[in-house]
Amino acid sequence: MIQTQSLYLHMQAAIDIVGQSPHPVNKIAATLVQTDGLSVSRTNTWPDEIAKGIGTQTRIGNASGTIHAETACILAAQKTQDSAIFITDPPCPNCMKNMAEAGINALYIDHKGFKKDFALRRGGHFENMSMCIAERAGISVHIVHRKEQRIDTILRIPENYIPADEFPPRLYPAEGKPWKDLISTEHQHYGEAPFALAIVQDHEKNTYAFSARNHTTIGYSADEDIESPDGKYSFILEPVNRLMMAAARKGLSIRSDSLYSSRVPTSRELINMIGANLDTLRIGDMNAARDIFGPQALKQLTCAKIITLISKGE
Ligand SMILES: [Zn+2]
Repeated sequence: MIQTQSLYLHMQAAIDIVGQSPHPVNKIAATLVQTDGLSVSRTNTWPDEIAKGIGTQTRIGNASGTIHAETACILAAQKTQDSAIFITDPPCPNCMKNMAEAGINALYIDHKGFKKDFALRRGGHFENMSMCIAERAGISVHIVHRKEQRIDTILRIPENYIPADEFPPRLYPAEGKPWKDLISTEHQHYGEAPFALAIVQDHEKNTYAFSARNHTTIGYSADEDIESPDGKYSFILEPVNRLMMAAARKGLSIRSDSLYSSRVPTSRELINMIGANLDTLRIGDMNAARDIFGPQALKQLTCAKIITLISKGE
């Protein structure tokens, strides 16, 4: 539990850096506070490799090349389970899904963020999607009025609420197991479902295999027929994103040369991968992808030498 006075200070920490965002219009910042008290603050930004190698004006597949502030905090944190996050603006559904998978359980938003033009333009997504995702995941949502020193809770989570987690990521010791065997084990397990696999280490340097399939955001069942109000966002978290967020949740670091995706990742998965300093990738089936944009993004990123593909067997 964070002391009330500290809540204002953490929000201030995010506001203090928001001007450093390189985005010309939408400047957003977040501060993530772990249960051990350590915190990390980030703005939305372009990873250096993308800014230098492709530029900030070019879309990568169907995505902008930026990493959102909330997601950047998760990727930079040590362990995100039960952490709190302070954001200058209401979060988009993609970041809300990431925060849900990362095990964040409290969200504080600066009240001024709701008045910005940016929020007004996409307010519907916050109300119709982000808040639903938070409710199912068990993330309480609060609005912070710093001047008045007042906090309004707009989403309260019942005590002892535990979200359904139908297909949790798989974690098992991998010491000495050849890549080929790990990959075929996971293919057998997941069948047709797209998945991602990586070698991870915990803080004691124990090595594990870690895998996740795509899935509806935590707390929802895969059978539930839910669609984004306008088709811009999906309630499904794609495998590579899910793997990275779940690794952050558990305090696991992904070995940089070990990422495997059973299909071509989406544009957003590829960009978040770069934000997590992962620059090599093995792909199971180069002809499989969620949409046409993933392969386009992959081509841009491999041509610019930002991502290197390695063959499955290596
Ligand atoms: Zn976002």
